[in-house]
Order: sequence, then structure tokens, then C-alpha cells
Amino acid sequence: MAKQIICQCGFVGRGETAADAAAVIEGHMQSDHPELVGEVSKDDLLAMAEEA
Ligand SMILES: [Zn+2]
Repeated sequence: MAKQIICQCGFVGRGETAADAAAVIEGHMQSDHPELVGEVSKDDLLAMAEEA
């Protein structure tokens, strides 16, 4: 079952696992929300993961 994490801006990061989806969001934050890098932890992202 795929997982997805929705960014505060509406961007949806999808992956096979919650960790994959978190990696997509991390890359997205680095390009679109550099101010959030270091503010949002990987645990926070994993907690946001839901069924895609
Ligand atoms: Zn975003």
C-alpha cells in the first residue's frame, strides 16, 4: 500500500512506504521551503504519512 504526505502548500509526496514519501517531501522542502529544512523532522513527516 502506497503512502502519501501532503505538504502545507498542497504538494503531495508519494512513495511505496512512509519513508519513501518522507524522502520526496524532504527534497521538495529543500527546493521550495528551504526555511523549513531542519524545522520539520523526519519523525514529523512520518507521522503525517497516510494511505495514498
Ligand atoms: Zn510545499
